[in-house]
Amino acid sequence: MADTTLMTIPGQVDPVSVPRDITPRGDGRVDLMGLPRPRIRELLAEAGLDARQAKLRAKQLFHWIYHRGATDFDAMTDIAKAMRPWLAERFVIGRPNVVEAQHSSDGTRKWLLQTEDGHDFEMVFIPDADRGTLCISSQVGCTLNCTFCHTGTMRLVRNLTPGEIVGQVMLARDALGEWPKGKMDFADEESEAHYTADGRLLTNIVLMGMGEPLYNFDHVRDAMNLVMDGDGLALSKRRITLSTSGVVPMMDRCGKEIGVNLAVSLHAVTKPVRDEIVPLNRKYGIEELLQACADYPGASNARRITFEYVMLKDTNDSDEDARELVRLLKKFDLPAKVNLIPFNPWPGSAYECSTPERIRAFSNIVFEGGISAPVRTPRGRDIDAACGQLKTAARKKSRAERDREAEETERQQRETAQAPV
Ligand code: SAH
Ligand code: SF4
Repeated sequence: MADTTLMTIPGQVDPVSVPRDITPRGDGRVDLMGLPRPRIRELLAEAGLDARQAKLRAKQLFHWIYHRGATDFDAMTDIAKAMRPWLAERFVIGRPNVVEAQHSSDGTRKWLLQTEDGHDFEMVFIPDADRGTLCISSQVGCTLNCTFCHTGTMRLVRNLTPGEIVGQVMLARDALGEWPKGKMDFADEESEAHYTADGRLLTNIVLMGMGEPLYNFDHVRDAMNLVMDGDGLALSKRRITLSTSGVVPMMDRCGKEIGVNLAVSLHAVTKPVRDEIVPLNRKYGIEELLQACADYPGASNARRITFEYVMLKDTNDSDEDARELVRLLKKFDLPAKVNLIPFNPWPGSAYECSTPERIRAFSNIVFEGGISAPVRTPRGRDIDAACGQLKTAARKKSRAERDREAEETERQQRETAQAPV
């Protein structure tokens, strides 16, 4: 399958369009996950249903898939019994494959996932007292090379499809036991026993996992439209935040066609520093980026734009930087809040996190300038789930560890065998 093989992307590029709504499968069946209703209807008609039937069944399937979280056609009790095997022969309702699930001591959960064609990516769930935030990926790897970001050390393997993006939300709901329970779908007592919510519910989504979402615009838009569809997952656009490193030409479309909250990875206020740490700045500079933020459809004092600012010791964390940040945000009259992110280290990273005193001083200056600047508490650091730590080396690591362990066991066995009794 040509379009699933590795793509070589020459440095900074504009949006790579890889039109593929269907995730290819070895068994020839079509995965309905990620397809909008009209596409499901079209596929049903192509498989032989008449127009009226195709429309009705598409509506029912959509409801079962996105509202109820069904993955088995047999559970779809309002679809004729004889029709269910017919559907199962032709279609599946997939989820990303789970390679590994990890729990942090602070309650954060990280999943290492895999696409049908064998590429690893990650998703993180962050429970809080009043909300549960799911951090999802939009690409396997990233074309951009922000110097402080672990994902940036990976090359872009490929864009995730709408099904793989919305599939992360579905999987999280499965794991949290969050599907509404109807009389019809879990009929027997036994299956009810598995249906337990762990009390931490998914209320918010952030596109802050692996990848640059605005370089996979069409797929991210289609996936978010499914997440927001009132007949399906029905999450409000106010509870979804898309983070971009500053792909200026796509920001207007993001506001108009997706309409979610915007977060911008600003991270520096001078050209030399931002050029270095967010190389995309060489293409779309700070002023151009802030103008695009000022023009962002839907931004208002009630819906502020979040400016993410990673705290890197002796790089971008001086009092002067803080004052310049305030000046810039005011100059463009931005409805802004600043999110200070303590740098999360990763093996081989060239930066250190600013000291807590420096972060506090920086935050105070921005706050005194009239802009809220909370410090983001790092979550899930012990399982490398915190911002910028995502990189899918976990499988490689664990395999290497397994090999080492196997060697060690062998060595011990040899020694035991040789030891005098
Ligand atoms: N590509 C998008 C979204 C994913 S990154 C973007 O860059 O905005 C989510 C956030 O984590 C971004 O603000 C990113 O700059 C930040 N980040 C990356 N590496 C980090 C690290 N090591 N420590 C703290 N934050 C980091
Ligand atoms: Fe890509 Fe965002 Fe990491 Fe930059 S910070 S390399 S844009 S994932």
